[in-house]
Amino acid sequence: MQKDCVFCKIVSGEIPSEKVLETEHCIVIKDINPQAPVHLLVITKEHFDDITQVRDREIAADIIDAINEVAEKLNLRDFRVVNNRGRGAGQSVFHVHFHILAGRPFSWPPG
Ligand code: 5GP
Ligand code: ZN
Repeated sequence: MQKDCVFCKIVSGEIPSEKVLETEHCIVIKDINPQAPVHLLVITKEHFDDITQVRDREIAADIIDAINEVAEKLNLRDFRVVNNRGRGAGQSVFHVHFHILAGRPFSWPPG
């Protein structure tokens, strides 16, 4: 739990969120500012500033499990998983999270 971290507060329940799934190490919630009809965030329960700090293989595997479980639960066929690392790549919340986007076509390369 890191003081003043919005996602730590969501994990603890101090800030409300729409939770769609929970695994041992992650929660999956709806993004407050959705960029697609389905826009979810996989958030680790433990605080890591970004993906470079996630070195625990059990947690890394749990993130993949959370993505696959929620895709199965919501019947997502085509979806995009995004992790922004660093301000220049678009990271705005410095608690590691993975976006799951679905429900519209996506272009490549991303902007
Ligand atoms: P980033 O820009 O760090 O890759 O993604 C942060 C994401 O967190 C953004 O898509 C933003 O809309 C979402 N977000 C920020 N604050 C909150 C919040 O309090 N609740 C929820 N559900 N999403 C949030
Ligand atoms: Zn945090």
